[in-house]
Amino acid sequence: MNLWDTNEIDYAGLGFRCGIEIHQQLDTHQKLFCHCPVGLVEGPANARLFRHMRPTLSEMGEYDGTALMEKKTRKEIIYEILNDRVCTYEMDDTPPFLINQQAVDIGIKLALLFQCKIVDEAHISRKQYLDGSIPTGFQRTTVLGTDGWMPYKDRRITIRQINVEEDACREVSDVGHRIVFRTDRLSTPLVEVITAPDMRNPIEAGEVTKLLAETNRISGLVRRGIGAARQDVNVSITGGDRVEIKGVERIGLIPGLTHFEALRQKSLLELRDELCNRDISLDNFAYNISDATRHLLKTPEFVGHWAVDQGGVIGAICIRGFGGLIGWYVFPERTFADELGGRVRVIACLDKTPNLAHRLNRAALGIPEREWESIGKGLNANTNDALIVTWGPQRDVVTALEEIAARCREAISGVPQETRQVLSNGRYTDFERILPGPDRMYPDTDHPPIPIEMKRVSNARASIPEFPWERRRKLSEAGLSQQLVSQLIVHPRFEIFQKMVEISGDIRWAARLVAETIKHLQRRGFETANLTDKRLLDLAESYREKEFYREGTLDILKVICKRNRKVSEAIDEIIFKITDEEAELIFEDLSDTANLPADPFKQKRYLMGQVMRKYRGAIPGKRLWDKVSAMTSRKDKATSEPRE
Ligand SMILES: [Zn+2]
Repeated sequence: MNLWDTNEIDYAGLGFRCGIEIHQQLDTHQKLFCHCPVGLVEGPANARLFRHMRPTLSEMGEYDGTALMEKKTRKEIIYEILNDRVCTYEMDDTPPFLINQQAVDIGIKLALLFQCKIVDEAHISRKQYLDGSIPTGFQRTTVLGTDGWMPYKDRRITIRQINVEEDACREVSDVGHRIVFRTDRLSTPLVEVITAPDMRNPIEAGEVTKLLAETNRISGLVRRGIGAARQDVNVSITGGDRVEIKGVERIGLIPGLTHFEALRQKSLLELRDELCNRDISLDNFAYNISDATRHLLKTPEFVGHWAVDQGGVIGAICIRGFGGLIGWYVFPERTFADELGGRVRVIACLDKTPNLAHRLNRAALGIPEREWESIGKGLNANTNDALIVTWGPQRDVVTALEEIAARCREAISGVPQETRQVLSNGRYTDFERILPGPDRMYPDTDHPPIPIEMKRVSNARASIPEFPWERRRKLSEAGLSQQLVSQLIVHPRFEIFQKMVEISGDIRWAARLVAETIKHLQRRGFETANLTDKRLLDLAESYREKEFYREGTLDILKVICKRNRKVSEAIDEIIFKITDEEAELIFEDLSDTANLPADPFKQKRYLMGQVMRKYRGAIPGKRLWDKVSAMTSRKDKATSEPRE
């Protein structure tokens, strides 16, 4: 079986399920709960603020698993403050201002585009966020719509919820125990669209995400560009558990990521079965740990020797009955050791990789066999057991060894619930944090409920554009390619495009111009801002009046961009006005041309090129081609006859 090929995997047999949460910034001027302007700023910060996070009991009187995990990391958090982007609200010194009504209106419109029921009254909730990315330790969020759907293939994808919420800080760096955040992005209004786990294979996961993004963008009310949209992708298979791949920015990665996550869960379930065969259970799971520093003191070639030099330690752990399982494959190129390494990296903050040694890599990391055996002997390890070594500051090593034991213990149950981050190859994922429990949401008492009147909803309904799937159907029926259709339906100038079609009567011409030609010119450095809406409409009119032909479009656009000309001026500059009689004379002229290539097709191309260069869009290409074809076939006869 080829593990790289999504066609070779029986996803239905695996019980593959996938749900998407898409987060996209709303195009508002101000933030969600204060009046600070939205937008990122580069350059030095105006101030830096230092904080520690600590978990508090939830309303239910329990600690959340994620909260405890964050406590273990003992992170120091630095916030880079930007005076014109944050106020005391974001920094948790004042309660929220009244919610941004523009954001609520956009949220309602998006909820209607996803065919949701709109709530009568929106309540603000707090969603616990303890990774430091929000200084308050929670995100304010509110549900605006529920129970929506969108068509896909021959079925419906359920949209569970549409929420409006505040964005977190941008992470600048995360090294060791110190994490730095920039606060400009904090509290930017976001829409969160949550689907049911209705996607049955990785291809569907990618396609549906595209459709969700399309629906958001068709509204014209969301921000675009890098970082404006992020997806959380939830994947599970039968017997596995929900794993959330966080913050995927490129939709194109989703099929691969979900495919490999399904395979990872499958192999973790096989590992569980193997442990079961070995009679290892939660009850008899056992391990012991030791300080292995003295065994490696005189081994400077060991990559972890720096820990000793810096006053740290080398720790070892023996997991009973796990012999040979550390190298168990969980992805085509990653093993159970990487699962352990991920936990150690995140929770013990030992982020210099490799951060652990085991039987398979110990030689490559510079631990000689003799030393390895003496470490094992110290722990009474035999061949049935797994031996793992890790190194760093003492406190971190203790945390790391406990995490390794905890992760091995979880392997007995199968797939742990966690959030995972995308690795740089865009294909695999690594541990990010424990999946937050259901208790992470609780009511926010600082903000009053927001009644949503019928009138407000009906106003919103009147102003939403047509559904993207309807727009897609119409354009496809008009004969445009799927690629053009996909570009057009979310195009910011879709309305202008529609008017250009109405005026010119040529949908293909207008479609290519709006979706492709302008982008092409922009890439090549032309000042496309000069192509105003008005000028595009004028161009469509001139085209209808046959003041130029399709072939001249690009040259006219170039003149408008370069010299900021009106459409009529650009046409005058480019197109020689010629009458039919003059055109005939040109064709006559051509027939005299000497040195024509011998090949008839090349002849035609040559002649076309000559005329096009001179007269651009002044003669319709079809007419020119017919004429040149007629001429060259005459010539064929003329030159071939004498030979016979
Ligand atoms: Zn503010």
